[in-house]
Amino acid sequence: MFIELAEVLVCPVCRSQHDEGTLQGLVAVVGELRDRKVIGGWLGCPACEARYPIQDGAVCFHLAPPEARDRSGGGPSTTESPPGSSGPQAETALLVAALLSLHEVAGYVLLGKGLGTMAEELSRLAPASEIVALRGRGEGPVSPPSAGVTHLSDTPEESLPLRAASITAAAILGTREDAIAEAARVLKPAGRLAVLGSSPAREEAVLSLLRTAGLDPIVVDPRAIVARRV
Ligand SMILES: [Zn+2]
Repeated sequence: MFIELAEVLVCPVCRSQHDEGTLQGLVAVVGELRDRKVIGGWLGCPACEARYPIQDGAVCFHLAPPEARDRSGGGPSTTESPPGSSGPQAETALLVAALLSLHEVAGYVLLGKGLGTMAEELSRLAPASEIVALRGRGEGPVSPPSAGVTHLSDTPEESLPLRAASITAAAILGTREDAIAEAARVLKPAGRLAVLGSSPAREEAVLSLLRTAGLDPIVVDPRAIVARRV
């Protein structure tokens, strides 16, 4: 975890209080630090005293024991494949970098679930930004943490542990309404969101969801729909 990321991460349990500004952020307790990356340690919430472990550089926002979550079944799952998943990962990363104008921005770039495998490649294309990649369960272990990428594990896309207006650009896979609304919440004004994995049949619905979330569509492409936060 990039050490400065602690400033924009919030406790998923107490998030509404964070957005109201009545709570301080999470407290990072650093076990091992390497090149401004926290490799091991934990994040603590001063309000509810929840502790979120940092292992191999990834933050795990688990809220319940894994067995309990498995039984609950969770929400609707994202089953779409990343566009170009049959081709080189680099090509999709290049597309996302271009759609989000990542060469022009510096800040935090959010990658939704199913897109984390392009995080390293995207980091090379956006050297001034920190890539914050969500990892679903079963996405496998995090490879050695690299500069410019922070993985957040077990993080529900409909309830991100991030402050409102803290992210410069975001890309998500799938067209779930709650995921789009949540990405819009964490985007800074003028920040761009790319929605991948839509279909021509869903296009009008997605455009409507984006507008409802306060975003202004700017690119409608078969591979992605891009909108800008007003
Ligand atoms: Zn809390």
